[in-house]
Order: sequence, then structure tokens, then C-alpha cells
Amino acid sequence: MIKKISHIGIAVKNLDEAVKFYEKLGLQVEAYEVVPSQKVKVAFIPIGDTRIELLSATSEDSPIAKFIEKKGEGIQHIALAVDDLPKALSEAEKQEIVLIDKEPRPGAHGADIAFLHPKSTNGVLLELCKEKH
Ligand code: ZN
Repeated sequence: MIKKISHIGIAVKNLDEAVKFYEKLGLQVEAYEVVPSQKVKVAFIPIGDTRIELLSATSEDSPIAKFIEKKGEGIQHIALAVDDLPKALSEAEKQEIVLIDKEPRPGAHGADIAFLHPKSTNGVLLELCKEKH
């Protein structure tokens, strides 16, 4: 059901500065995307079969701005790739896992996504992600 880690979402204050850091490691941004529904600008950095997504707020009421205000920069979520997102959500619900999203919604990179609540996941914001191919 869960195939791999799709990506790791990292909240950053300054996207350009964060990108420079990863470039020092020899990694490269594949694409940038603004996701208006989440009020974020994302830089996608592929690493093998997975990727790092650097997330920066495009507005003060962005979830990323709120995250940084509370916790500072750092890992914001981990995304697990699934084959069938609606099925994964109904199975999670059967297991009494608390869902933030009961229905899939559009995420970055053309994916459908849904979040599981950190209170069910030992404090990790987990995203289930049906990647677009
Ligand atoms: Zn994500």
C-alpha cells in the first residue's frame, strides 16, 4: 500500500538561501511551484527516487509561516507515496487514525494529498500522497 517516502517537506524562511545550501551539497532544484491553496512556494530537489521539498510562505497566514513562528525552520512533514489515496484514507480511518483531510486534495507537483493528524502519528505530520506520473 505504502510504496516509499515520496518527499520530505522542510519549512524555510528564505527559499533562495535554502536552495543555495542544497546546491553546496551538489543537489539541484528540478522545479519551483507556487501552490495558492497552501500559500507556499515550493522548490523540488530530487534525491534518487525521492525528493526534498523546500516550503516557504507566500503570505503571513500561510501554514508554513505559522509553523516557523511556532517551531522554527525544519522538517514540517513527511510524505508517503500510496497507490490508492481514497482507499488508504478509509483504511487509516478504520484503524482510528485521526485524519486532517478526509478527502484527497490537490497538492504540489500535480499530486493528490491528505494529511494525518500528528496526534495519531507520534508528533509527525504525515502526508499520504498519490504522485502523478
Ligand atoms: Zn508534501
